[in-house]
Amino acid sequence: MDSNRVAERVRRIKPSPSTAAAERANQLRREGHSIVSLVVGEPDFDTPPHIRAAAAAAMNAGATRYTALPGTLELRRAIVAKLQRENGLQYEPQDIVVTNGAKSAIYSALAATLEPGDEVIIPAPYWVSYPDMVLACEGAPVTVACPEEDGFKLSPSRLEAAITPRTRWLVLNSPSNPTGATYTVNEYKALAAVLARYPAVMVMTDDIYEHIVFGEGPAPHLLAAAPELKDRTLAINGVSKTYAMTGWRIGWAAGPKDLIKALDTFLSQSAGNSCSISQAAAAAALDGEQSFVAESVATYRQRRDATAAAVNAIPGLSCRLPDGAFYLFVNCAGLIGRMTPAGKPIETDGDVVLYLLEVAGVALVAGTAYGLSPYFRLSIATSQDVLDDGVARIADAVAKLR
Ligand code: PMP
Repeated sequence: MDSNRVAERVRRIKPSPSTAAAERANQLRREGHSIVSLVVGEPDFDTPPHIRAAAAAAMNAGATRYTALPGTLELRRAIVAKLQRENGLQYEPQDIVVTNGAKSAIYSALAATLEPGDEVIIPAPYWVSYPDMVLACEGAPVTVACPEEDGFKLSPSRLEAAITPRTRWLVLNSPSNPTGATYTVNEYKALAAVLARYPAVMVMTDDIYEHIVFGEGPAPHLLAAAPELKDRTLAINGVSKTYAMTGWRIGWAAGPKDLIKALDTFLSQSAGNSCSISQAAAAAALDGEQSFVAESVATYRQRRDATAAAVNAIPGLSCRLPDGAFYLFVNCAGLIGRMTPAGKPIETDGDVVLYLLEVAGVALVAGTAYGLSPYFRLSIATSQDVLDDGVARIADAVAKLR
């Protein structure tokens, strides 16, 4: 195909590396290989029955038409109540826009605000989509390495060093995909003290994992720690991870009226409203009884503890216990410089991941995809049996390295 048909803004981005790794694992399976995939970042549970029932009832009652563009009043009221109840934050339904997943809220916000060359500060390791979304909007991603010794978190001094007159946004994702790092109230206050000196910088908080936390939940919110940032913060969230609703595609942004209006305008001429039936389901998720959340988090906690212990018993690998989300971000520095049984040197985390796929049949995603090496991400959003099998295979393959 003539590549000139494809715009530069699309040619400069790449498909999600986790999607690519999942597809590669599926392809190997189809070819008859036994593959353990520890790639995907979605709950392995079904959406709870009361939420599915609410969707069926809404569909049968005629909720099959366009809704208000920013979302039904019912859902926006449920989001307002959730923000008050769980985060202590005050919003009105007009301060909320419902989107096709959190992903669309983030993309729309960037598209609605970035001029070409505007900079977006992205602490690394980061969710794979942030830099590419910025590039697709003709902005400039400014990634800031946040090493393991800093708990994979952005320090105030690193934040300050990254800010320039072109900085438009700081993106904060707590708990983080891929590390699970979760900011404390005091850490947020320290970042806010820096931001106080740069009033033009806006903050996007990606709160999608706020309930998948292993201490007391939900994770603290930036705006609870630093309410003075409210008029320049866009709080992004959704039902995908908390309620095992990844396929329903409901997310939202809450923020100052001018930004929400800009998102409304952009969405009105691009995506339109989010699915009417999914919106009814999301309202039922937020307003309904919440026992699913604690039960699923208890399961993730058991898997985290068992799997991290097994990984840390493998010579050459180590991982911190994540505070939240459902991933282990495994340090594989101890394998770099070794040699495969076939005589191939292991030079990067990409080599480690390829070796583990080919020799152990375990699919993982290399740290390079998240902007920090040498690491790999291991998803614990799968059964303990699968995790045990996967980690045993990794241990065997690592033992064969010379
Ligand atoms: N933010 C982060 C950090 C994520 O990991 C994901 C899902 N992988 C999303 C946003 C997207 O969420 P949604 O499915 O609601 O679009």
